[in-house]
Amino acid sequence: MASNSTTSTSQAVETLTKQISDMGLASKSTRQPGTSHHQKQPSQSKLPTKLTAGNASLKDRTNTSGSTVAKHANVPHVKSGLSKQITVVNESNPKSGTTKDVNGVSIGTYDGGLESDENPGPVVEGEVAEALALDSSKLGERPTREWNLHSFEIGRPLGKGKFGRVYMVRTKCEPHYITALKCLHKSEIVESGVEKQVRREIEIQRNLRHPNIIRLYGFFHDEKRIFLMLEFAGKGELYKQLSKCGKFSEKRSSRYIDQMADALSYLHSKHVIHRDIKPENLLLGINGELKIGDFGWSVHAPGNRRKTLCGTPDYLPPEMVLGKTHSEKVDLWALGVLTYEFLCGAPPFECSSGLNATYKRIAKVDFRVPSSVSPEAKDLIERLLVFVPDRRLPLTEVLKHPWIVKYRSRSSSKGES
Ligand code: ATP
Ligand code: MG
Repeated sequence: MASNSTTSTSQAVETLTKQISDMGLASKSTRQPGTSHHQKQPSQSKLPTKLTAGNASLKDRTNTSGSTVAKHANVPHVKSGLSKQITVVNESNPKSGTTKDVNGVSIGTYDGGLESDENPGPVVEGEVAEALALDSSKLGERPTREWNLHSFEIGRPLGKGKFGRVYMVRTKCEPHYITALKCLHKSEIVESGVEKQVRREIEIQRNLRHPNIIRLYGFFHDEKRIFLMLEFAGKGELYKQLSKCGKFSEKRSSRYIDQMADALSYLHSKHVIHRDIKPENLLLGINGELKIGDFGWSVHAPGNRRKTLCGTPDYLPPEMVLGKTHSEKVDLWALGVLTYEFLCGAPPFECSSGLNATYKRIAKVDFRVPSSVSPEAKDLIERLLVFVPDRRLPLTEVLKHPWIVKYRSRSSSKGES
């Protein structure tokens, strides 16, 4: 049990629980203790219930990524920095959508999903259409070349998000960049009223350059859809690994937290608060390096203290549970929760009696580190899961913490080995 706690909190907790329930999140996003902890959790960035429906279960998603990795190959280095190291996939049953290997690289078999999507929705018109006319080739500063769907050979599906599908693709033009093409249906964005959020996500991500943050190389749109050209994460989703392993070793957890701390440090230096850190938002590069892949709840807040409720229930810090303003220190709390979940296989404040109880535990900082966790890791968790935001261990100190330094590999790559 951590020593830092707060006084009477039940009123604030109940208000928050009601707020969450009203948003249709409660039962869906609470991890069920005693069951598999690592079912993919919806981001609160997609709060409307309709949007969480697209969140396929782990079982449903096993054919999408990671399982067919055969070997790595190099593609000629290109100026834009697009994926150099990529995955070669063995396709045993090529169908009509099969693409040819280029530079010895296969992008797999296209399933026709972009054309046959059941619900591409109506054409979006008027002001919102303008807001969603996102095109990186038309940006005043640092415009990219012009892209459209015909610029790519489409390969295997990588997954399905709440607003559309993600494919492994290759540019037809030399030098045949490999990227993950994420499609977002405009009508669904509009229906959910998240146009500004999507624009913000794109604006934030396109300016970020860090080895542990998925790059956004470019974007374009057609009448009904927006397409994002994302750095391809060759080893897929981290939460799938976590669900396969149950929990991670101390070494593996420490290396991931090292990379997270580095990426968060970079984000905070740019005045970006992530606010939705959890295994479901993390991807793995081809060398097993961690990549933050989702910016749905990020906020660019220079000197700004925010009061919006956001983040995933299990990862919410006390200041959010209690409806207080919050700062970039929310990410430090989430880093503590993540460390705990990696090492223990479940988040620290999870409660069998429901959401209300979870929030009460968060507000009281009521958690216990099992004895299987090393004293160094326990120390880091307890320095991050601190009630007073300003007393949480700063990222510079996290990066120097004995549990982090102990497992850091001497080579520059921080990939899992
Ligand atoms: P959302 O981000 O809308 O909350 P989501 O995380 O379920 O929902 P997406 O981010 O659209 O959906 O991605 C869907 C899936 O596609 C991911 O879970 C992942 O498996 C795969 N994917 C997404 N981006 C990449 C990428 N850059 N590289 C490899 N696979 C990716
Ligand atoms: Mg995502």
